[in-house]
Amino acid sequence: MKTAKVAKPYRIDDGKHFRLKNFDPADTGRLHSVDDAKEHLQKGIARMEDLQDKLYAQDCWSLLLIFQAMDAAGKDGTIKHVMSGVNPQGCQVYSFKVPSATELQHDFLWRTTQHLPERGHIGIFNRSYYEEVLVVRVHPKALENEKLPPSLVTKNIWDERFEDIRSFERHMARNGTVIRKFFLHLSKKEQKRRFLARLEEPEKNWKFSAADIHERTYWDDYQKAYEEMIRNTATEHAPWYVIPADNKWFTHLAVSAAIVETLEDLGLNYPKVDAAKRKELQTARQLLEKK
Ligand code: AMP
Ligand code: MG
Repeated sequence: MKTAKVAKPYRIDDGKHFRLKNFDPADTGRLHSVDDAKEHLQKGIARMEDLQDKLYAQDCWSLLLIFQAMDAAGKDGTIKHVMSGVNPQGCQVYSFKVPSATELQHDFLWRTTQHLPERGHIGIFNRSYYEEVLVVRVHPKALENEKLPPSLVTKNIWDERFEDIRSFERHMARNGTVIRKFFLHLSKKEQKRRFLARLEEPEKNWKFSAADIHERTYWDDYQKAYEEMIRNTATEHAPWYVIPADNKWFTHLAVSAAIVETLEDLGLNYPKVDAAKRKELQTARQLLEKK
């Protein structure tokens, strides 16, 4: 099995018929254990290193990776794993929290726009403008905080946001930013197990937040919001990957496979040396050899 193929079954290019219930959070594809996956995990990381080097050298495409998930689904650990295969110089991670007072003075795409990756770079968003159709949809109070003119807040607001996000992503794609979006799909049962581990294991205590338990009571609302989000924003140029998240090793493998698949499809190469550059290299070599 080719490593890059691992992610294919989880990729949604067209959300029209998407149903979350058709995806099993405990799925591990054709692999059964972390030992089965080890070789693929290592290969994925090595391949990513090579492809990122070309992406950077070419200085033309950029890659934006967006991560969304319920609490304890493993976003941070997955980002750490992905990052272990890339040169930090060509990669930046941003975590988006509850919007600040300054951020609330602007439209909902403003704060993320400032952190889009430059050409040749990989940008990782730990949460993103998708919170605007997730937490903000689940908690009407969050929408009230956004200071929108009341006449603009109608029952169409979510469809309008989906439309604006689709347009924004199409614009980015047309300008050379490749967008891949990951929903780490965790089961409610596994979330409970991970929360309990955060309470029981001293080195995990710091990760525990009472707010997470509160959000868990909105589980069904969130699942519905995620489904709607994917139905409305999965496109060919900015697909969602619904990655099974009950087994961390598989999450890491599937995400790195998706990134490898994406970069491989770009047909990246080191920039070609033209006649002028070849001459420059030759002259430099002669100079060096003289001394
Ligand atoms: P964490 O990632 O655990 O540090 O938590 C960040 C918190 O910020 C989460 O509860 C998110 O739901 C919340 N958050 C992120 N973006 C937004 C947003 N646009 N509006 C409201 N809350 C947000
Ligand atoms: Mg949290």
